[in-house]
Amino acid sequence: MSDRRLTARGGSEKDDRYARQRALPVIGVSGQKRLEDASVLVAGCGALGTNAAELLARAGVGRIALVDSDTLEATNLQRQALVGENDLGRLKASATAEALRRINSTITVTHEVVRVDRGNVERLIAGADLILDGFDNLPSRYLLNDACVKHRVPWVFAAVAATCGMVLPILPDEGPCLRCLFPDPAPEERVLTAENAGLINTIPRAIVAMQVTLGIRVLLGLAPQPASLVVFDIWEGTYTAQAASRGERCPCCGEGRYEFLEGGDA
Ligand SMILES: [Zn+2]
Repeated sequence: MSDRRLTARGGSEKDDRYARQRALPVIGVSGQKRLEDASVLVAGCGALGTNAAELLARAGVGRIALVDSDTLEATNLQRQALVGENDLGRLKASATAEALRRINSTITVTHEVVRVDRGNVERLIAGADLILDGFDNLPSRYLLNDACVKHRVPWVFAAVAATCGMVLPILPDEGPCLRCLFPDPAPEERVLTAENAGLINTIPRAIVAMQVTLGIRVLLGLAPQPASLVVFDIWEGTYTAQAASRGERCPCCGEGRYEFLEGGDA
């Protein structure tokens, strides 16, 4: 029997799972090592988070933390990655973590079953090199934005509804934050969601493909500047990328007021 053991960081000669990535000039041997040393929090294990987590695990990101408080329902199966009918009723975070470990046993996967709120968000992001947004609501994203700007942790915003999605990398101190572009959350009744507008199951994967690519670039120190807000309608085939800049009077990254983290109704 040949030796098929994998080293803790996938470095065995027998384990060439990252060969295609190392062969990419933009990643290379040193970039792959950086990914293997990186720690990423995936916030939410829905359509966005599960697809993102799968790509991170396959890419060899060394530590992946998942957080989600929900259980898997039948309506999730249309778009969720990594889970099936046998997982109905299970906690999304633990089912997703298990699936990631089956995909890549050389990385460390942890999960926490908790709703992200003002009381725990700073602890959850502590030690992460990057956060990927897999939330399904705006208040959580504004809370995450406050925490990430306050603690200078990069994150990648992503959102989908109907046939459209948006993505924006947020690098505190270097580019705009969520509130630079959208100073306040839109009123709930005006926000399109999968629940009120439906969702084609191809758009989360398309948006996550961009989100994870941006995340890899952030981890490698190669984030595109200036940051662009990408809006993609996969049904119409329309794509816009609008350069985004910091709002001088942004209450969050400009004035250092973390209203969603420290007070109000977030
Ligand atoms: Zn800002």
